[in-house]
Amino acid sequence: MAKGYFLYHLDKTTCGGRILSGASDDVYIIGGVARQQVRVGDPVSCGVHKGQFRVCGGMGDTYTVGGAPKVWAGSLDSFSSCPCRARFIPSVLTHTYDSHANAGRAAEREQTAKQQKLREAKDKGIEPMPIPVRIYQTKNQMDDYQAKDMRHGDLDIRTLKVRFRIDVNTVSTKVNPRTLMEKPPLNPWPLLSPDERAMLPEEPARKVSKEESAGLMFDEFRSLAQVYSFHGPYKDIITEMINHMQGNSGRPYSSPLLDRALKEQILNDRSRQSSLLKIKGILHDAINYEYGFIPLSKKGDYSMKRVILRSLTQQFCLNLTVGSTGLTGW
Ligand SMILES: [Zn+2]
Repeated sequence: MAKGYFLYHLDKTTCGGRILSGASDDVYIIGGVARQQVRVGDPVSCGVHKGQFRVCGGMGDTYTVGGAPKVWAGSLDSFSSCPCRARFIPSVLTHTYDSHANAGRAAEREQTAKQQKLREAKDKGIEPMPIPVRIYQTKNQMDDYQAKDMRHGDLDIRTLKVRFRIDVNTVSTKVNPRTLMEKPPLNPWPLLSPDERAMLPEEPARKVSKEESAGLMFDEFRSLAQVYSFHGPYKDIITEMINHMQGNSGRPYSSPLLDRALKEQILNDRSRQSSLLKIKGILHDAINYEYGFIPLSKKGDYSMKRVILRSLTQQFCLNLTVGSTGLTGW
C-alpha cells in the first residue's frame, strides 16, 4: 500500500511553484513556522506560468467549511491546475495516510453525488430508464432448434437439384451416391499421354455400400475443407466439426476453441458490420453522460432499435462464417 503525505502551505510544486495558503483554522507550527494544512481548491503558484492556480484532486478525507465539505490534499492524489499539471513535494513527512485510507468514505461521497445528480436530472424532467433493461438480444436463441438454420433432415434428389443446384451424380469426385459406384481417380497415370492412357484396360467400377459411399464423401469433404481453412490455432476446428457431423449422433457440437474463435472474431471486428461496435455506438448516443444513465425517453427510439435489428441480421450471417471459423469456401 502506498503512503501519502498531507500537504501544507509553502510546499513546492514539481514545476517550481508553491502552495500559497491552506485552512486558516488548521495551522501547525512546524520548525517555528505556522503552516496551514492544504485542501482541494487552495491557491498555488506555478514556477513556469504566471498567475494563480488551484490544488486539484484530494486524498478523500474531508474537512467542513461553512457546512460544505472540502477534501484534504495529499501527495498521492493532488496536482496543480497549472499548465504543467505539476505534483507537490511534501515537506511534512510525519503526517501521512495510506492510499486506501478513505476508499469507503470516498465511495460514500461518490454515491451522495450520484443521488444529487439524479435529483437534478429529475428536476429537469429527465427520467432514467429503469434497470435492468435488455439492450441486446440475438434474433435466435442459443440451441433454438426451431431456428431456420438449425433444421435438419433428409433432402431428396429433386430438392437438392432444384433448390440447391446440387447434382448428386457429380457432387463427388470419388463416388456417385445415387448409383453407389466408386469413381476412378481423375488422372491415375499423370506421366502418360492421353493416347497412352487410352490404351490401358479400363478398370471395372467398384460398387460400394451406402455407408462406404458416405465415408468416401466425408473424406472428400475433410480434404476440401482443409484447403479452404486458414492456418493457425483454429485450423483443425473444421475437421473436428466434420468428424462430429459424420458421427451423426444428433448431439450438439461444442468446442472451447470454437467459442474462443467466435469471441475473438466479435472483439476484433473493426468493420462497419461489427455488431459490437454498433451496440457501443448506440449506447454512446443513448447515454446521458452528464447524469450517467440512459434517459427513459430513448426507450421508444426506433432508430436505436432498427440499427440493432439490422446488425443482428448481419451477426446472423457472421455466425455462419464463424461457425466454421477460417473456412471461406463453405
Ligand atoms: Zn506549473
